[in-house]
Amino acid sequence: HPRVRFAPSPTGYLHLGGLRTALYNYLFAKSKGGSFILRIEDTDQSRKVDGSVEALVKDLEWAGIQCDEGPTAKGNYGPYVQSERLNIYQEHIQKLLDNGSAYKCFCTERRLNILRRDAVRSQRTPKYDNRCRSLTQEEINKKMDAGVPSCIRFKLTSDCQYFEDMIFGGIAYDVSLNEGDPVLMKSDGYPTYHFANVVDDHLMDITHVLRGVEWQISTTKHLLIYRAFGWSPPQFGHMPLIVNADGTKLSKRQSDVKVEDYKRNGIYPLALVNYITLSGGGFDHVPGAGVRLKSMEDLAEEFQIDKISSHPSRLNPDLLEECNRLEIKRQLKDDQLSKTLVTTLQELITKTYPQHNLNLTEEHVTTILNWSATRISRIEELASKKFGFLWILPTNKAEVDRQLLEKLLKNLEGLEKFDQGTLKENLRTFSTNNNVKFPALMKMLRSVISGLDEGPGVAEMMDLLGKNQTLARIKAAVR
Ligand code: GLU
Repeated sequence: HPRVRFAPSPTGYLHLGGLRTALYNYLFAKSKGGSFILRIEDTDQSRKVDGSVEALVKDLEWAGIQCDEGPTAKGNYGPYVQSERLNIYQEHIQKLLDNGSAYKCFCTERRLNILRRDAVRSQRTPKYDNRCRSLTQEEINKKMDAGVPSCIRFKLTSDCQYFEDMIFGGIAYDVSLNEGDPVLMKSDGYPTYHFANVVDDHLMDITHVLRGVEWQISTTKHLLIYRAFGWSPPQFGHMPLIVNADGTKLSKRQSDVKVEDYKRNGIYPLALVNYITLSGGGFDHVPGAGVRLKSMEDLAEEFQIDKISSHPSRLNPDLLEECNRLEIKRQLKDDQLSKTLVTTLQELITKTYPQHNLNLTEEHVTTILNWSATRISRIEELASKKFGFLWILPTNKAEVDRQLLEKLLKNLEGLEKFDQGTLKENLRTFSTNNNVKFPALMKMLRSVISGLDEGPGVAEMMDLLGKNQTLARIKAAVR
């Protein structure tokens, strides 16, 4: 049974990219009866934001992702927060010092800055020159006695230059050609990401590491660390970049879209989750099948890691709207969920029109929700001006022919049935009998009923509003 982890840094809130990583890890685990672990990587204490772990867990749960192990769940591999594991890193770094894979480095910030500056001046990529690798034991002792601060670096070699990426296939990268020896432990006693990540993945028995492609060039470095410990590494898979619909890079603002913002703007979790998988792949593609929402259970059951696309994943806002529309339709078909939708809408509309003392019956709100299912993708739209006529008596700006309306009123009052078909026919006959052009009649009626110049069909609106409300509006215009 695979064990996978989502390992965010608690530097803020969960963003779309983070949710994608968590989701694919979760689906992978669940598709194979495995465990999904949440590990908090907070070794950069300066970037830590208070409350973000709780917010993260809340967002994951909202999206339907439950952690099997993690800081807020049980588990036998804890603690699940790296800052609570400092003794473990100390113990493990000693092993690497003892077997000669790591060494103490006493270079000052000043020296490192000079190296960097010189490299930039001569247009070389800045990298540490590995000077402290060759310190003698005597030199080391002397510096330690003098209390010179030190960090611990890893001796890069070039014997792990290749790995099979579960998503990208074979990846070759000789890190020792491109980087100086990386720091494993900082002088403040905290591990770096690379070191803590490897130690924890090993100690937590992680079998598969699925993460963003920005970490792909770190993987051969991680493999070297596994080798230095004599551990067998997990399998690695990297997920492609998320880009705009036209393939361009996301702006800072876009990539910062919080999961919480989607939620606040009326996007439902299942819509968001389906949107991510539709954009990122991971499933058999059925050509021409159209967009279909899958439950979390179905997603987990049908997920196939080798079907994740290695091409950049393109954001498609229309697809998200489509998913949300389908989700609203799904909820409307469910007894319990549709009740919740009705309540949500009742509250929203009451709040939108506070002075109107609206009497929003469940029946009327249900009718409107069913009608709107093909017209909106977010419930919030029903509170916009465009749909104001559904709830309140419109202010009617157009000229009205009072006499004609009086007649119409009488005529409509006599109607037994008040459905679209009956109304259409009746209005036609009325226009002929009264010698008034049909389009002109409709124009006036539309304004009286909705205050709008355009919108849904007039008979459709009358049907939707019902007989009482329609007649009340015509009366108000005649008065
Ligand atoms: N802490 C890293 C991050 O914030 C985790 C990367 C990994 O999964 O190895 O993305």
